[in-house]
Amino acid sequence: MDDLERPHFAVSFVLDRGDFALLFEALQARGYTTIGPTPRDGVIVCDELSGVDDLPIGWTDEQERGSYRLHRRDDLALFGYTLGPHPWKRFLSPPVVRLWQAEQTGKGFKIIAEEQPAVQYALIGVRACDLYALHFQDRMHLDGPHIDTDYQRRRAAAFIVAVNCSQAGATCFCSSMGTGPKAGPGFDLALTEVLGAERHYFLVEVGSELGAAVLAALPHRLATEAEQAQANAVIAETATHMGRTLDTNGLKELLYRNYEHPHWEVVAEQCLTCGNCTQVCPTCFCYTIEDATDLTGQHAERWRKDDSCFTTSFSFISSGSIRTSAKARYRQWLIHKLVASSDQFGLSGCVGCGRCITWCPVGIDITAEAVALRSGGEYEHA
Ligand code: SF4
Ligand code: SF4
Repeated sequence: MDDLERPHFAVSFVLDRGDFALLFEALQARGYTTIGPTPRDGVIVCDELSGVDDLPIGWTDEQERGSYRLHRRDDLALFGYTLGPHPWKRFLSPPVVRLWQAEQTGKGFKIIAEEQPAVQYALIGVRACDLYALHFQDRMHLDGPHIDTDYQRRRAAAFIVAVNCSQAGATCFCSSMGTGPKAGPGFDLALTEVLGAERHYFLVEVGSELGAAVLAALPHRLATEAEQAQANAVIAETATHMGRTLDTNGLKELLYRNYEHPHWEVVAEQCLTCGNCTQVCPTCFCYTIEDATDLTGQHAERWRKDDSCFTTSFSFISSGSIRTSAKARYRQWLIHKLVASSDQFGLSGCVGCGRCITWCPVGIDITAEAVALRSGGEYEHA
C-alpha cells in the first residue's frame, strides 16, 4: 500500500512509560531489528538499539549554526531532544552498495547478481520532518521508470514508529515547511510523550493494521479526552517554539529569476564545498557509480556510492565539470532543496529539519540565505 494512503485512525491510546520496553520486545519478536536514537561520542546518532535503555534517556541537545552540544535534562524523557546528524535514509538506501560483479568466461563474461540481505528494520523515533523526507525518498526511488529494488525491499519491510516533537530546536523550521511538528501519514504507530510531575505516558496513534497488531501485544487502553488534549497541547506548544522560520511565499519565482544575484558570491566566499549539508540532509539522494576491475582483468565490480552536488566530479561530463565554482554548486543545492525539487517530485526537497544549519562547519544557514536573496543580499554571516 502507498504510504500516503495508509489509514490514519482517529482514536488514540495510552501506553505507560513503565510498559514502553515491551514495544521493543514486541517488534523484536516479529523479527524486526530495532533502530533508533542513541547517545554516542557526544552526539545522538541512529543505530541498532537492543532495548529502551539504549535511548538517550534524560538527554537533550542544543543546536545552533555550526554548533551541537548534548546536555542532561532534569527529567527522564525518552525523546526530549530534536535531531542528530543521522537521517534515516542510511538504513533504506545505504551509502555504499555493490550492485553486481562480473567474471570473465571463455567466450565473454557472466554477471553475478548481488545477494540482497533480508533486512527488516523498525525505525523508532522518526520525527515528522523525517517522515515527510521518507515520502520524498520514496518518490525518488520508487515512482520513476526505474525502481530501486534494494530500497523497495527495505522500505516495504520497515515498521515506522513516529514521535511527535515535544520541543523544537534552534535550527528547526518544520512549521514553515508544513512538515511538522506533528507526524503526517505514513507511520505504523505515532507517539506523543507526555511527561508531568505525576505521570509519564505516551499517547499512541495507530496508522496501519500492522501498527494495530503490534499495539495489541502491549498493555494499553483508550485515551481519555483529557489525555488527548494534553498530548495535543504538547505538540501545539512545540509549534510555537521553532528556532527558525522560512517564508516560502513567492520563493520559487524569486529564486528562479535570481540566478545571477550578487549574494551567491557572498555565500560562496564562506562555503567550503565540503558537502556536510548534503550528507546530513534527509532528502538528498545523489549517488555516483564506480566500476573497478582486478589486475588480471578477470573480475569486475560495480558500486553505488553516495555523492554530493558539492563535488566538482558530480557534474563532470565529457569535457569537464559543469559547476566548477562554489557559487554554482551552492546555488544548485539551495535552489534544488527549496524549489526545484517540488517541480521535479511534487514534494518539497527541504523539510525544515535544520541539520544543514547545525552541521555546516562555517554556519551557513539556508533560511538566512533565503532572506538575504529576498531582501537584496543583506545578511551577516556567522
Ligand atoms: S554550505 Fe556548509 S556544509 Fe554545505 S558545502 Fe558549504 S560549507 Fe559545507
Ligand atoms: S535542506 Fe537543510 S533544513 Fe532542509 S531538509 Fe535538508 S538538511 Fe534539513
